[in-house]
Amino acid sequence: MSLSKDQQRMIDDIEREFEFTQRMTGRGHLDPKVMKAMTEVPRDAFVPESMKHAAFNNGPLPIGHGQTISQPYIVALMTELLQLQPEDTILEIGTGSGYQTAILSRLCRRVYSVEVVPELSETARRAFDELGYDNIEVRVGNGYEGWPEHAPYDGIIVTAAATHVPSALIEQLKPGRRLVIPVGEPYSYQQLYLVEKDSQGEVHTTDVLGVAFVPLVNPPPSAEQ
Ligand code: SAH
Repeated sequence: MSLSKDQQRMIDDIEREFEFTQRMTGRGHLDPKVMKAMTEVPRDAFVPESMKHAAFNNGPLPIGHGQTISQPYIVALMTELLQLQPEDTILEIGTGSGYQTAILSRLCRRVYSVEVVPELSETARRAFDELGYDNIEVRVGNGYEGWPEHAPYDGIIVTAAATHVPSALIEQLKPGRRLVIPVGEPYSYQQLYLVEKDSQGEVHTTDVLGVAFVPLVNPPPSAEQ
């Protein structure tokens, strides 16, 4: 597959940032499978028309409703931390643009994704349809509650900063598998956590990197659909 110059630059920038952050993350290179997914999924299909010119920059971009599409490096890092297997079923919280969802969908069997803003969920669903990504299911809801109907999951990824690790997500994770989640204060200090649930159901948490995510809001039940 031949990449556009912009796409190749994005991949090079991700590789470079992996090298810069190796001392913190313990990961110096992008896994070839993750890199393949990052080259296959057209990021420009997930950004608004007015942002298309910057679609392959290694930075976040506004997607409306006060939300952002995550930085490609962070998408790659979080994907890598999940250590996906082709047969996995993954839960994502914070569909947003759907870009992270799309990357996950190229690396596992099925992705369930929860988004609190109905318009974003709908725009993402349309992008998946247009690209023919048919192993993704989205719903509108409060991600703090996960998506119990399809649990347990082989991995869970949260792409907005939570105030704490939601207990529902720990419950919905299979033993031996991983949850990747930014935790911290809104628009302030946040840390990307790797939460591992061992075969006994014990939970071990590792700090991976300082990050900046939009907040995972906790709407009252009446605001949900
Ligand atoms: N992975 C997305 C990130 C979008 S930003 C992307 O790269 O495009 C985080 C998203 O989380 C936003 O769309 C926001 O609306 C959503 N969000 C915030 N609180 C939420 C909650 N409680 N449940 C589900 N989604 C939530």
